[in-house]
Amino acid sequence: MAIERRIGIVGAGVGGLHLALYLQKRGIDATVITDREPREYRDARLLNTVAHHYVTIDRENDLGVNHWLDPTVYYAFHDHFFNFPQPLHFRGDFAKPSRAVDYRIYLPLLMEDFAARGGKIEYRRIEDGDIAALVARFDLLVVSSGRGALGRLFTSRPEHMPFAEPQRRLFVGLYQGVRNTTPMNVTLSVSPGHGEMIVIPTVTFSGVAHALLMENIPGGDLDAGMAALSYEKDRRGFLQTVLEKLEKHHPSTYDRIDRSRFDLAQPQDVLQGGIVPTVRRTVVELDGKCAVALGDVHSVIDPMMGQGANMASYAAFVLGEEIVKADAFDTRFAEKVDLRREDRVLAAARWTNLMLKPPSEALGALIVAMSGNRKLCDEFTENFNYPEIQWDRLATPQRIRAWIERLSSPTVSRRGPRTHHR
Ligand SMILES: Cc1cc2nc3c(=O)[nH]c(=O)nc-3n(C[C@H](O)[C@H](O)[C@H](O)COP(=O)(O)OP(=O)(O)OC[C@H]3O[C@@H](n4cnc5c(N)ncnc54)[C@H](O)[C@@H]3O)c2cc1C
Repeated sequence: MAIERRIGIVGAGVGGLHLALYLQKRGIDATVITDREPREYRDARLLNTVAHHYVTIDRENDLGVNHWLDPTVYYAFHDHFFNFPQPLHFRGDFAKPSRAVDYRIYLPLLMEDFAARGGKIEYRRIEDGDIAALVARFDLLVVSSGRGALGRLFTSRPEHMPFAEPQRRLFVGLYQGVRNTTPMNVTLSVSPGHGEMIVIPTVTFSGVAHALLMENIPGGDLDAGMAALSYEKDRRGFLQTVLEKLEKHHPSTYDRIDRSRFDLAQPQDVLQGGIVPTVRRTVVELDGKCAVALGDVHSVIDPMMGQGANMASYAAFVLGEEIVKADAFDTRFAEKVDLRREDRVLAAARWTNLMLKPPSEALGALIVAMSGNRKLCDEFTENFNYPEIQWDRLATPQRIRAWIERLSSPTVSRRGPRTHHR
């Protein structure tokens, strides 16, 4: 006899929504329970500045929720800038373009897609004490509530958590007045010893604006004075300080700024904070039934390498595939899901955590090699889609050296896009 498949999903972030839409497309009964209605997103504070790599865009196409078909809002490559006394400037191309949309536009649209196709969404906040009743109500409960308190249901795995404190202070804004490049690209700018900045052309409420995701090293010059800045209280001082920091530490981006137009796209388009990378166990069992973790509840990482949301979407599809073919929603089910998604999820965490540390000699050699070897940098860039492959290249100094050597051989050819769909 076929098992019942009533799936409850707590949270309507990218993880919960991609799973809900995946199940809906395959005729499986999914109910989303979340604390924020679509109309509450328009005036919310900036949530994040998420870029979707093409593997995630492929999943959106599969779900029929890619609402952004205009090719001019996509970006084609990563532009690397290292602010050394002799600056290093080089690029790496993706096999297929990537794209960023403000999540205050993205998430409510996908909620509306799900609801318009007959999906059920309940709006209420879930507390720890509500979980047992939800586990009892559904055949499987998925917890994809992001970085909030509910994640504590799942115990953390200290063996995958190298840092007790955030390694970067994030100072993030969506700005107008940053010149577009043609074609568009994402800039990864590094000010050695002080921090990094990721510049992401992003579809916003008023067309394409630029996310400046500053990853400032605590105690460094980029970080100094930033925590005290308040756009609401002192707009001019805020913008002036940001411009001064950019001019000194991220000059290739500063050169793209039109000072007369430079401003936040909206007053609420700023975000400050820090993330302690956390990996959790992914299942809790209650009365023989399971709650399974997805997305940031499973693994939270610093946004430097742009992996968290892409990972949540990937893990949602793996979980969806397993739900479709499951014979039981028990701990063995959860274990199988874990085994399938763990390599990529852990690799994204490990690679990001490596990049948060001061660079090893081997990593320094890779950066220098990439600056003179386009094939190497293209592959590094392409691997943003496949963090487990990136980790195969970077996990140890021996692997980094072997990679440089292999791609420095004159006979090597550029690798095309990978054949598996994600
Ligand atoms: C500045 C910044 C930049 C980033 N850039 C990138 C990037 O470029 N690429 C990338 O891949 N990732 C990026 N990330 C990470 C990415 O934002 C997250 O990994 C991703 O959004 C997590 O998705 P999720 O579905 O797990 O959770 P969330 O998106 O956090 O969704 C959680 C959902 O649960 C709901 N909820 C929460 N608590 C409750 C509750 N108690 N009861 C009911 N509902 C609840 C929320 O309303 C929401 O709907 C970035 C993050 C930050 C902060």
